[in-house]
Amino acid sequence: MGITTRFPPSPTGYLHIGGARTALYSWLHARQNEGSFVLRIEDTDRERSTDEAIQAITDGMSWLGLDYDEGPHYQTKRLERYQGVIQQLLDSDHAYHCYCSKKRLDEMREAQRAKGVKPKYDGLCRHSVNKVDGVEPVVRFKNPEAGAVIFKDLIKGSISISNEELDDLVIARPDGMPTYNLCVVVDDMDMGITQVIRGDDHINNTPRQINILKALGIDLPEYAHVPMIHGDDGKRLSKRHGAVGVMQYRDDGYLPEALLNYLVRLGWSHGDKELFSRQELLEYFRIEDVNRSVSTFNTDKLLWVNHEHMKAMDPAALVEAAIWHYQQQDINIEEHSNAGEVVGLIRERTATLKELVSQSLFFFKEFKSYDESAIKKNIREPSAELLTQVQQELESLTNWQAEDIHHVVQNIVAHNEVGFGKVAQPIRIAVTGSTQSPSIDQTLACLGRELTLKRIAAAITNFSARFAN
Ligand code: GLU
Repeated sequence: MGITTRFPPSPTGYLHIGGARTALYSWLHARQNEGSFVLRIEDTDRERSTDEAIQAITDGMSWLGLDYDEGPHYQTKRLERYQGVIQQLLDSDHAYHCYCSKKRLDEMREAQRAKGVKPKYDGLCRHSVNKVDGVEPVVRFKNPEAGAVIFKDLIKGSISISNEELDDLVIARPDGMPTYNLCVVVDDMDMGITQVIRGDDHINNTPRQINILKALGIDLPEYAHVPMIHGDDGKRLSKRHGAVGVMQYRDDGYLPEALLNYLVRLGWSHGDKELFSRQELLEYFRIEDVNRSVSTFNTDKLLWVNHEHMKAMDPAALVEAAIWHYQQQDINIEEHSNAGEVVGLIRERTATLKELVSQSLFFFKEFKSYDESAIKKNIREPSAELLTQVQQELESLTNWQAEDIHHVVQNIVAHNEVGFGKVAQPIRIAVTGSTQSPSIDQTLACLGRELTLKRIAAAITNFSARFAN
């Protein structure tokens, strides 16, 4: 039989880091087995589900390249199907109507707690019909009374839960609406899911779901419960840790490939290897090798992984990855023939695409003003004169190349018997507006003759005006 996995988010918020990692594990498992990956939107909580959240989830998945073969299926469109299965369970005596009032249930639980036993439905309506006129009953699943649910979790190993521990779960509310666990079971069955890969916060639902599947006579899927992700304070990852939606990571300048790499390693390893391409993940990842313990999110590590991916990329691909970020700065990077050279030069110094773009802006558009603290520190009365010499030498340069530019700067340093910085820093401020740039010769070579000379001319005027009185 073929492999089918699923990702079933509840659309009550963004696609968050934990959800993205589970989606990734499910996607990898499907793709490496030539299986199918299903997206299902668990939107039965109508109050909390929103269209924006659905959009954010599909945007996040598409940005990460987690494509699905089937779906999105929406649970709210499948209510009739769930109701049909509830009826089937009633007809086969695997479920029953329960008329117990809230008051009775509350008192029952209270008494159980007082006796120190775990609160659980006492089975009154399971054993006798207690129809109450004018009361719409709930439907409860007849959980087996004896024995245990035993399953082999692909990550956590063998798990056994005694049926005594399990309640007769409500599967339909008084208004006939199916409950969460019932919907999941019917969907996993109908969609032919072979591996249920999900966060271990759902592990308590698994024995209940298994019992319902068994009552329906369905072959069980395999289960893999992925441990949670914690922040570096040891608490479950949440907005407090800055862990918002996946798209925030796009905005912050992470590469989707780097985020995937980081996420997969957060809970799985392959020897000492830290950096993986998507192809390598498809080759090496095994759901069975996912760690059993909680993982800790670490932004510094994510930054490192991102930087490594940026360094390893073909410059043209890096430019392409940065298109969106340049657009945010009103730059159409595809119009600039030196873009590949620029990003190749800047990437050593930057860990995100956002930094890459902000540190390379001066190559593609005019900066608004000089960094005054850089001016204060580096510009002296002779600076304009030194820049004028640089300007003259550069104007007559035949080969606009880093090596030749380097000689020009060196010659002026030697000729004037000053330190290198006395010449280089004014040039840097002239062409970049600040003192942050790669080596001066490479910067000018990349910037090109025309822009360099234009900016040096403007700086000579500006710097000399500062000392005129
Ligand atoms: N809708 C559930 C969630 O978002 C997933 C349930 C499951 O994977 O079975 O947590």
